[in-house]
Amino acid sequence: DELAPIDAGSQRAVLSDRRLQHLREVLRARVGDEVGVGVEGGAIGRATIVALDAHAAELQVHLAEPPPAALDVTLALALPRPPTLRKVLQQATALGVKRFALFRAERVERSYFSSHGLHASAIAEDLRLGLEQARDTIVPTVEVHPEHFGRFVRERLPALSEGRTLLVAHPGAPTQCPRTPIGPTTLIVGPEGGFIPAEVAALASVAQAIDLGPRILRVETAVVALLARLSP
Ligand code: SAM
Repeated sequence: DELAPIDAGSQRAVLSDRRLQHLREVLRARVGDEVGVGVEGGAIGRATIVALDAHAAELQVHLAEPPPAALDVTLALALPRPPTLRKVLQQATALGVKRFALFRAERVERSYFSSHGLHASAIAEDLRLGLEQARDTIVPTVEVHPEHFGRFVRERLPALSEGRTLLVAHPGAPTQCPRTPIGPTTLIVGPEGGFIPAEVAALASVAQAIDLGPRILRVETAVVALLARLSP
Protein backbone atom coordinates (compact mmCIF):
# COMPACT_ATOMS: atom_id res chain seq x y z
CA ASP A 1 0.00 0.00 0.00
CA GLU A 2 2.77 2.39 -1.00
CA LEU A 3 2.41 5.68 -2.82
CA ALA A 4 3.65 5.32 -6.39
CA PRO A 5 3.55 8.67 -8.23
CA ILE A 6 1.94 8.48 -11.66
CA ASP A 7 1.01 11.12 -14.23
CA ALA A 8 -1.88 13.41 -13.40
CA GLY A 9 -5.02 13.04 -15.47
CA SER A 10 -4.50 9.57 -16.86
CA GLN A 11 -7.12 7.03 -15.88
CA ARG A 12 -4.94 4.21 -17.15
CA ALA A 13 -1.28 4.17 -16.30
CA VAL A 14 1.37 1.81 -17.60
CA LEU A 15 4.47 1.46 -15.45
CA SER A 16 7.68 -0.13 -16.65
CA ASP A 17 10.27 1.62 -14.46
CA ARG A 18 11.36 1.10 -10.85
CA ARG A 19 7.73 1.38 -9.80
CA LEU A 20 7.07 -1.86 -11.65
CA GLN A 21 9.84 -3.48 -9.64
CA HIS A 22 8.34 -1.99 -6.49
CA LEU A 23 4.95 -3.48 -7.28
CA ARG A 24 6.33 -6.89 -8.10
CA GLU A 25 9.17 -7.28 -5.65
CA VAL A 26 8.28 -5.16 -2.64
CA LEU A 27 4.50 -5.21 -2.63
CA ARG A 28 4.31 -8.61 -4.36
CA ALA A 29 1.21 -7.31 -6.08
CA ARG A 30 -0.99 -9.40 -8.38
CA VAL A 31 -3.59 -8.64 -11.00
CA GLY A 32 -6.75 -7.47 -9.25
CA ASP A 33 -4.91 -5.97 -6.26
CA GLU A 34 -5.54 -2.36 -5.25
CA VAL A 35 -2.63 -0.04 -4.48
CA GLY A 36 -2.37 3.53 -3.25
CA VAL A 37 -1.10 6.04 -5.83
CA GLY A 38 0.16 9.60 -5.66
CA VAL A 39 0.14 12.11 -8.49
CA GLU A 40 2.63 14.90 -8.87
CA GLY A 41 0.76 18.09 -8.11
CA GLY A 42 -1.18 16.68 -5.26
CA ALA A 43 -4.02 14.22 -5.56
CA ILE A 44 -3.86 10.75 -4.16
CA GLY A 45 -6.17 7.85 -4.88
CA ARG A 46 -6.28 4.14 -5.54
CA ALA A 47 -5.54 2.00 -8.55
CA THR A 48 -6.45 -1.54 -9.54
CA ILE A 49 -3.80 -3.60 -11.27
CA VAL A 50 -5.34 -4.87 -14.52
CA ALA A 51 -2.24 -6.45 -16.07
CA LEU A 52 1.16 -7.31 -14.68
CA ASP A 53 4.18 -9.12 -16.06
CA ALA A 54 7.95 -8.72 -15.93
CA HIS A 55 7.87 -5.84 -18.46
CA ALA A 56 4.93 -3.65 -17.46
CA ALA A 57 2.08 -3.07 -15.05
CA GLU A 58 -1.18 -1.57 -16.24
CA LEU A 59 -3.23 0.27 -13.64
CA GLN A 60 -6.79 1.57 -13.67
CA VAL A 61 -6.60 4.70 -11.56
CA HIS A 62 -9.44 6.03 -9.40
CA LEU A 63 -8.61 9.46 -8.03
CA ALA A 64 -10.79 10.38 -5.09
CA GLU A 65 -12.52 13.76 -4.95
CA PRO A 66 -11.17 15.82 -2.05
CA PRO A 67 -13.69 17.05 0.52
CA PRO A 68 -14.51 20.77 0.37
CA ALA A 69 -11.70 22.88 1.82
CA ALA A 70 -12.38 23.27 5.54
CA LEU A 71 -10.04 26.10 6.33
CA ASP A 72 -7.45 28.25 4.62
CA VAL A 73 -4.62 28.39 7.13
CA THR A 74 -0.93 28.40 6.31
CA LEU A 75 0.94 27.14 9.35
CA ALA A 76 4.32 28.76 9.97
CA LEU A 77 5.88 26.61 12.66
CA ALA A 78 9.17 27.01 14.51
CA LEU A 79 10.63 23.60 13.76
CA PRO A 80 9.98 21.36 16.78
CA ARG A 81 11.81 18.14 17.63
CA PRO A 82 11.03 15.30 15.22
CA PRO A 83 8.36 13.41 17.24
CA THR A 84 6.44 16.65 17.77
CA LEU A 85 6.76 17.59 14.11
CA ARG A 86 5.27 14.23 13.16
CA LYS A 87 2.23 14.79 15.37
CA VAL A 88 1.72 18.33 14.11
CA LEU A 89 1.98 17.34 10.45
CA GLN A 90 -0.52 14.51 10.84
CA GLN A 91 -3.04 16.43 12.90
CA ALA A 92 -2.85 19.76 11.07
CA THR A 93 -3.13 17.94 7.73
CA ALA A 94 -6.21 16.10 8.97
CA LEU A 95 -7.68 19.47 9.99
CA GLY A 96 -7.09 20.86 6.48
CA VAL A 97 -3.81 22.81 6.50
CA LYS A 98 -2.41 22.86 2.95
CA ARG A 99 0.81 24.77 3.47
CA PHE A 100 3.45 24.36 6.15
CA ALA A 101 6.48 26.62 6.55
CA LEU A 102 9.05 25.33 9.03
CA PHE A 103 11.37 28.03 10.28
CA ARG A 104 14.29 28.52 12.63
CA ALA A 105 14.19 30.48 15.88
CA GLU A 106 16.64 30.98 18.72
CA ARG A 107 15.19 28.07 20.72
CA VAL A 108 15.17 25.65 17.80
CA GLU A 109 17.96 23.06 17.84
CA ARG A 110 20.10 23.31 14.69
CA SER A 111 20.13 19.53 14.45
CA TYR A 112 16.37 19.51 13.80
CA PHE A 113 17.16 20.88 10.34
CA SER A 114 19.46 17.97 9.53
CA SER A 115 18.31 15.15 7.31
CA HIS A 116 17.69 13.15 10.49
CA GLY A 117 15.25 15.73 11.81
CA LEU A 118 13.56 16.39 8.50
CA HIS A 119 13.31 13.02 6.87
CA ALA A 120 11.46 13.44 3.57
CA SER A 121 9.90 10.00 3.68
CA ALA A 122 8.70 10.52 7.26
CA ILE A 123 7.13 13.85 6.25
CA ALA A 124 5.40 12.23 3.26
CA GLU A 125 4.11 9.47 5.53
CA ASP A 126 2.73 11.96 8.08
CA LEU A 127 0.96 13.94 5.38
CA ARG A 128 -0.51 10.74 3.97
CA LEU A 129 -1.75 9.63 7.40
CA GLY A 130 -3.40 13.02 7.96
CA LEU A 131 -5.03 12.98 4.54
CA GLU A 132 -6.27 9.43 4.92
CA GLN A 133 -7.73 10.22 8.32
CA ALA A 134 -9.77 13.10 6.85
CA ARG A 135 -10.42 11.35 3.50
CA ASP A 136 -8.66 14.24 1.83
CA THR A 137 -6.58 13.91 -1.34
CA ILE A 138 -4.78 17.22 -1.77
CA VAL A 139 -1.24 16.85 -0.47
CA PRO A 140 -0.02 19.90 1.51
CA THR A 141 3.26 21.59 0.68
CA VAL A 142 6.02 21.71 3.28
CA GLU A 143 8.65 24.45 2.99
CA VAL A 144 11.77 24.51 5.11
CA HIS A 145 13.35 27.88 6.01
CA PRO A 146 16.63 27.23 7.81
CA GLU A 147 17.83 30.81 7.45
CA HIS A 148 18.20 33.07 10.48
CA PHE A 149 14.91 34.10 12.12
CA GLY A 150 15.35 37.80 11.29
CA ARG A 151 15.83 37.02 7.64
CA PHE A 152 12.83 34.67 7.65
CA VAL A 153 10.62 37.43 9.06
CA ARG A 154 11.93 40.07 6.65
CA GLU A 155 12.21 38.07 3.47
CA ARG A 156 9.91 35.03 3.66
CA LEU A 157 7.01 35.95 5.91
CA PRO A 158 5.70 38.70 3.58
CA ALA A 159 5.17 36.18 0.77
CA LEU A 160 3.66 33.63 3.16
CA SER A 161 1.15 36.15 4.43
CA GLU A 162 0.36 38.24 1.35
CA GLY A 163 -3.39 38.95 1.26
CA ARG A 164 -3.88 36.98 4.47
CA THR A 165 -4.40 37.78 8.14
CA LEU A 166 -1.12 37.17 9.95
CA LEU A 167 -1.45 35.83 13.51
CA VAL A 168 1.20 34.75 15.99
CA ALA A 169 0.17 32.57 18.92
CA HIS A 170 1.90 33.80 22.03
CA PRO A 171 0.93 33.03 25.64
CA GLY A 172 -0.24 36.14 27.45
CA ALA A 173 -0.94 38.21 24.32
CA PRO A 174 -3.65 40.78 25.07
CA THR A 175 -5.95 39.61 22.23
CA GLN A 176 -7.81 36.31 22.44
CA CYS A 177 -7.66 33.90 19.51
CA PRO A 178 -10.75 34.36 17.29
CA ARG A 179 -13.37 31.63 17.78
CA THR A 180 -14.68 31.71 14.23
CA PRO A 181 -13.13 31.52 10.75
CA ILE A 182 -11.56 34.82 9.71
CA GLY A 183 -10.72 34.01 6.09
CA PRO A 184 -7.28 33.24 4.67
CA THR A 185 -4.86 33.23 7.58
CA THR A 186 -1.17 32.61 8.17
CA LEU A 187 -0.66 31.35 11.69
CA ILE A 188 2.72 31.42 13.40
CA VAL A 189 3.38 29.00 16.25
CA GLY A 190 6.52 29.21 18.34
CA PRO A 191 9.15 26.72 19.44
CA GLU A 192 8.81 24.31 22.36
CA GLY A 193 10.77 26.70 24.57
CA GLY A 194 8.85 29.76 23.32
CA PHE A 195 10.07 32.80 21.38
CA ILE A 196 12.78 34.96 22.93
CA PRO A 197 11.73 38.59 23.66
CA ALA A 198 13.49 39.97 20.54
CA GLU A 199 11.56 37.52 18.39
CA VAL A 200 8.28 38.44 20.07
CA ALA A 201 9.03 42.10 19.34
CA ALA A 202 9.92 41.42 15.69
CA LEU A 203 6.73 39.42 15.16
CA ALA A 204 4.53 41.92 17.00
CA SER A 205 5.44 44.55 14.41
CA VAL A 206 4.11 42.45 11.51
CA ALA A 207 1.52 40.10 13.03
CA GLN A 208 -1.41 40.20 15.45
CA ALA A 209 -0.40 38.35 18.64
CA ILE A 210 -3.14 36.08 20.01
CA ASP A 211 -3.56 34.17 23.25
CA LEU A 212 -5.26 30.82 23.83
CA GLY A 213 -5.96 31.23 27.51
CA PRO A 214 -3.98 30.77 30.73
CA ARG A 215 -2.82 27.21 30.05
CA ILE A 216 0.53 26.92 28.28
CA LEU A 217 0.02 24.15 25.76
CA ARG A 218 2.48 21.88 24.05
CA VAL A 219 3.14 22.85 20.45
CA GLU A 220 1.03 20.00 19.04
CA THR A 221 -1.87 20.77 21.40
CA ALA A 222 -1.70 24.50 20.68
CA VAL A 223 -1.79 23.86 16.91
CA VAL A 224 -4.91 21.69 17.19
CA ALA A 225 -6.62 24.15 19.55
CA LEU A 226 -5.83 27.09 17.26
CA LEU A 227 -6.95 25.31 14.09
CA ALA A 228 -10.14 24.10 15.76
CA ARG A 229 -11.04 27.68 16.65
CA LEU A 230 -10.32 28.94 13.14
CA SER A 231 -12.24 26.11 11.44
CA PRO A 232 -15.81 26.55 10.16
N1 SAM B 1 7.27 28.97 27.84
C1 SAM B 1 6.92 29.18 26.45
C2 SAM B 1 6.31 30.58 26.28
O1 SAM B 1 5.83 31.12 27.27
O2 SAM B 1 6.28 31.10 25.16
C3 SAM B 1 5.92 28.11 26.04
C4 SAM B 1 5.95 27.81 24.60
S1 SAM B 1 4.62 26.75 24.06
C5 SAM B 1 5.11 25.21 24.72
C6 SAM B 1 4.96 26.63 22.35
C7 SAM B 1 4.14 27.51 21.47
O3 SAM B 1 2.76 27.10 21.48
C8 SAM B 1 4.10 28.98 21.82
O4 SAM B 1 5.23 29.68 21.31
C9 SAM B 1 2.81 29.44 21.18
O5 SAM B 1 2.98 29.70 19.80
C10 SAM B 1 1.91 28.23 21.38
N2 SAM B 1 1.12 28.31 22.63
C11 SAM B 1 1.10 27.39 23.62
N3 SAM B 1 0.22 27.74 24.58
C12 SAM B 1 -0.31 28.93 24.19
C13 SAM B 1 -1.27 29.82 24.77
N4 SAM B 1 -1.87 29.57 25.93
N5 SAM B 1 -1.59 30.94 24.07
C14 SAM B 1 -1.01 31.22 22.89
N6 SAM B 1 -0.09 30.41 22.31
C15 SAM B 1 0.25 29.29 22.94
